[in-house]
Amino acid sequence: MLIDSYDRVVDYLRVSVTERCNFRCQYCMPEKPFSWVPKENLLSFEELFEFMKVAIDEGVQKIRITGGEPLLREDLDRFIGMIYNYAPHIDLAMTTNAFLLKGTAQRLKDAGLKRINVSIDTLKPEVALAITGKDVLKNVLEGVEEARAVGFKVKVNMVPMKGMNADEIIDVLEYCKERNMSVRFIEYMENAHATVDISGMKSDELLAILSEKYEFVDDGFDGSSPSHYYTMKDGYRFGIIEPYADDFCKQCNRIRLTAEGNLIPCLYFDESMSIAESVRNGDIKAAAEVLREVVRTKPEKNRWGGEEGEASSRAFYETGG
Ligand code: SAM
Ligand code: SF4
Repeated sequence: MLIDSYDRVVDYLRVSVTERCNFRCQYCMPEKPFSWVPKENLLSFEELFEFMKVAIDEGVQKIRITGGEPLLREDLDRFIGMIYNYAPHIDLAMTTNAFLLKGTAQRLKDAGLKRINVSIDTLKPEVALAITGKDVLKNVLEGVEEARAVGFKVKVNMVPMKGMNADEIIDVLEYCKERNMSVRFIEYMENAHATVDISGMKSDELLAILSEKYEFVDDGFDGSSPSHYYTMKDGYRFGIIEPYADDFCKQCNRIRLTAEGNLIPCLYFDESMSIAESVRNGDIKAAAEVLREVVRTKPEKNRWGGEEGEASSRAFYETGG
């Protein structure tokens, strides 16, 4: 079992398979980065998988494939299949912008993917264009329908921003509720790569809007999820992820692996250790050592709510969010 210095059990690995993305979300990758990671620096699926086996053997129970946009990586279903065949018990999920889900959902399902989280920030085509830089909404919504049709349980992430999509909180919630998909509102996390003038909505502002229309009770946190949950009278549950509150970190159970093989103990901080050389040399013992060291050095909490500069220099498209 992997336990950090604050007695948190680390059993969740998020794996970014690419930093590349077909969207240019204002809050994540408003511009194409100056340069992408050269292809030869990316770990192959085989190399990523070698490390994932180590992590699973050390106690990881949950794996999320993310990015950038994970569906841009060719043959992703083959990778999913490798993980599933090694450890069918793992809670194997993916976070995607859904643009390429149509036509791939069935293959992902067949390969062993269990759950999908989709980012839907708006239901208006022109707002989707303003947020992502591309006319994406039709494909996204069709992708969601296809994922549901092949039997995926889908959860939705929305980043509410003032003057952008803040007036759609209820609409997105209703869209999700009608489809029995849970929605989580994520507070915009300031980072050096996003557009500077974004003004994200905080949980108290979201709750004020939601409570005008709905009655709900505060369910607090659920296990190690970073999401604060609320349940409506009819049983529908929605969540709010509030990194600006310390509570976000108390039950944190996750570490992140980038497509280049950097293992990151915390989403906020720059620190990381590379497992690339060890897996490329087939030195599994060394990879396991790095894993244990990264868990050991996991910080107690992020600094989004702190006094010393609240923006992170980490790119979400690199860490996978
Ligand atoms: N491309 C996929 C997607 O958009 O779902 C997966 C990667 S994306 C980096 C993962 C999650 O991070 C998305 O739900 C996105 O909304 C969230 N995210 C990215 N930048 C963020 C920011 N600055 N603040 C809050 N959430 C952010
Ligand atoms: Fe791409 Fe996801 Fe970042 Fe949007 S949030 S730019 S879809 S990685």
